[in-house]
Amino acid sequence: MIKIEGIAASAGVAIARAFKLEHPDFTINKKSVADTASEVARFDEALVTSQKELEAIKERTRAELGDKKAEIFESHLLILSDPELIDPVRAMIGDEQVNAEYALNETASQFISMFENMKSAYLQERAADMRDVTKRVLTHLLGLTYVNPAEISEEVIVIAEDLTPSDTAQLNRKYVLGFTTNIGGRTSHSAIMARSLEIPAVVGTKDVVEQVNKGDLVIVDGLDGTVIINPTDEVVAEYRTKQAKYQEQRAEWNKLRDQPSMSKDGVHVELAANIGTPNDVAGVIDNGGEGVGLYRTEFLYMGRDKLPSEDVQFNAYKTVLEKMEGKPVVVRTLDIGGDKELPYLDLPKEMNPFLGFRAVRLCLDRTDIFRTQLRALLRASVYGNLRIMFPMIATLGEFREAKALLLEEKEKLKAEGIEVSENIQLGIMVEIPSTAVLADQFAKEVDFFSIGTNDLIQYTMAADRMNERVSYLYQPYNPAILRLVKMVIDAAHKEGRWAGMCGEMAGDTTAIPLLLGLGLDEFSMSATSILPARSLISKLSKAEMQELAAKALDLQTAEQVVELVQSIQA
Ligand code: PEP
Ligand code: MG
Repeated sequence: MIKIEGIAASAGVAIARAFKLEHPDFTINKKSVADTASEVARFDEALVTSQKELEAIKERTRAELGDKKAEIFESHLLILSDPELIDPVRAMIGDEQVNAEYALNETASQFISMFENMKSAYLQERAADMRDVTKRVLTHLLGLTYVNPAEISEEVIVIAEDLTPSDTAQLNRKYVLGFTTNIGGRTSHSAIMARSLEIPAVVGTKDVVEQVNKGDLVIVDGLDGTVIINPTDEVVAEYRTKQAKYQEQRAEWNKLRDQPSMSKDGVHVELAANIGTPNDVAGVIDNGGEGVGLYRTEFLYMGRDKLPSEDVQFNAYKTVLEKMEGKPVVVRTLDIGGDKELPYLDLPKEMNPFLGFRAVRLCLDRTDIFRTQLRALLRASVYGNLRIMFPMIATLGEFREAKALLLEEKEKLKAEGIEVSENIQLGIMVEIPSTAVLADQFAKEVDFFSIGTNDLIQYTMAADRMNERVSYLYQPYNPAILRLVKMVIDAAHKEGRWAGMCGEMAGDTTAIPLLLGLGLDEFSMSATSILPARSLISKLSKAEMQELAAKALDLQTAEQVVELVQSIQA
């Protein structure tokens, strides 16, 4: 039995066999081929192997998940035998004397972009199917072994060096009971996704991949941040009990699902959720979310090989707004950069990606990308209660420039006769210290603030949020951070605006008493944190928390702040 300590990234306890997820290299090079007949034969063979594989997956899915879920593989099989795709690949190998991988990739890419540019959401989704099928055939042509995380179909714990946010989004929580990685922190985006999928996770273990063999029994304790490999029977029994207790606790919290979020002395605050995809909305509703406080739209841009079209985006935003039925939805414009890469933009590697050419900086430079997103948002605005938020604002000039582009697109749409809501609140993320310090100036021009503590902490403390070696400096409770948060909230209130927080700190049970006392209006967090937060807030008096927060602001260290909060929780 081996016990490894990591970072508790998503609550819960999972026990299952290990599944090691590896990422092979899918780089495709163009090669000239003399014997084109055997190259075509090689292509045909890869098609047959893929077909057999898909038949087997389809049957398994039908047996385990029903006909409806198996349909997707039926459509993959149709693509695989579609002469409109296959014939041009064969012809290209023969005519241009190129390798099958290259010919397939070129041909499929054309179909993918054609589907993506279709108006209907149904046809746009066909692009994803085409991409999956192509990847499967390429796997065989390149002689790789790759299991798409979406295809895992037995109960496992996924073990990986790291998981990209799009890998995480694809995990099927029926089978992936938990995951653990070598790298990453609590605010890395795969950890954030794990929380919205409610999959227990431990990240930043440094060496779990090296310690575990395929098929080992593994316990992931996402409550305490431990991973146990090949536990004894007694230890398994102990963790089964812990798992059951956690389930009981969740059932207790569930009773608060339809209750308002009210402090003991009757003050209402809004508890909203952070989402990454339209599919996450179900979790928001299940967990009694009063709105979406942060929709990270960058996931729409990731996991594909080109920018999403205006219609792809419009459909996604409209779906979220409709599903939320008039409750507020704060959509954040593209925040790419840092740990969220878009390989197809071909941006140069940077020394400090978190401080680099990212988010609104990129959008104000690549206004083509930005305008497309703004148009999609504006068109969707009539389907619900949309609020738009710009990320990584460092100066007033950036905000004004971004706002001007939004207004320009709005006027253009209206001139085209397209309806746009007149009640869209416009806000910014406060995640750069300069903006927190100048919050009084910003408050005169924005409708709301949402404090992005995941970045605000790393920039204030100069401690990379992804680097476990400096995680001791990543201190949400440092009085310096609390003072910045106070400045932002006070500045908003002075101008009659509201202040929210969408960094992970908003759902942290040690931070919540302080944030309530500092006057935060909206707390946006992983959906699974909402009910525990509601339960906690119902036991706190805002008036008392104001006193607590005032004391905390005068303390010297994060440790003293934690002690102070614990003194009231004891
Ligand atoms: C933040 O920085 O706090 C935030 C919510 O944004 P992200 O985690 O996506 O950087
Ligand atoms: Mg951020």
